[in-house]
Amino acid sequence: MFQDLDIRYDNAWRRATPEADSVALIRQGDGILAALQEGQLAFPRFGQLPPAARALEWRYAFTLGDESYFLAQWDDAPLPVGYGFVSSKDYRNYGPKEAVFAAAVSESLHRWYGANRFCGRCGKPMEDSDTERARVCPDCGLTVYPKICPAVIVAVTDGDRLLLTKYQGRAFKRYALVAGFAEIGEPIEDTVRREVFEETGLRVKNLRYYKSQPWVFTDSLLFGFWCELEGSDRITLQKSELSEAGWYRRDEIPGDYSGISLTGEMIEGFRGGRGPKE
Ligand SMILES: [Zn+2]
Repeated sequence: MFQDLDIRYDNAWRRATPEADSVALIRQGDGILAALQEGQLAFPRFGQLPPAARALEWRYAFTLGDESYFLAQWDDAPLPVGYGFVSSKDYRNYGPKEAVFAAAVSESLHRWYGANRFCGRCGKPMEDSDTERARVCPDCGLTVYPKICPAVIVAVTDGDRLLLTKYQGRAFKRYALVAGFAEIGEPIEDTVRREVFEETGLRVKNLRYYKSQPWVFTDSLLFGFWCELEGSDRITLQKSELSEAGWYRRDEIPGDYSGISLTGEMIEGFRGGRGPKE
């Protein structure tokens, strides 16, 4: 999956200023400043940037391995030679995986900072907390933490069959599993049962938590569950959410799904013999 790195990811908050060899994550809209060479994504070092870029408002983002990454927004300035803005739709297809991960995390952080410039309660400008990754209103004290939305990915199985779906009205047209966001006050297991029933009319039992995936492209934290069909296998499609849903035997499962996602890992796992019991 896209977040499986061979090096350490340290995202503990600290106030810091970039140094010449710090990695510069510069955002513009949904793009990140990078050079592309032979399918590899490379970010500039802070010391390589023109003075106008070094004068931007920089924030410490995280450390990957031994490298410190800093984040800034660039609205209008000359670009370093050889660099351009690459959108998330494109950079997902490049390597190395550390760079794709850094770009995706910076996108989520950037979205969050941009959406929390002003207090949602009293309208005053917000400030960074000194002690944690949070935005704080100096006037009314409202504290806002990074936006992370819990959601489920559900592999509904019936013996040798897996339920596959396709989303309605989204750019992503490949096969997927049942998915949906948790509601306030809802245990995540109830999210599984509710989403499966809402989207397909099916009932499930024997839920087994598999693993999680931070899906930072949509500010989500995905919880993958295996479960078994209970009762009728007749699907009633929720057409506002899904364009199709159907049962596929292990040997019929199509290869057309996302290779970097928990969804893809679970579909491939089922094909290889995994499921609710193992
Ligand atoms: Zn306030």
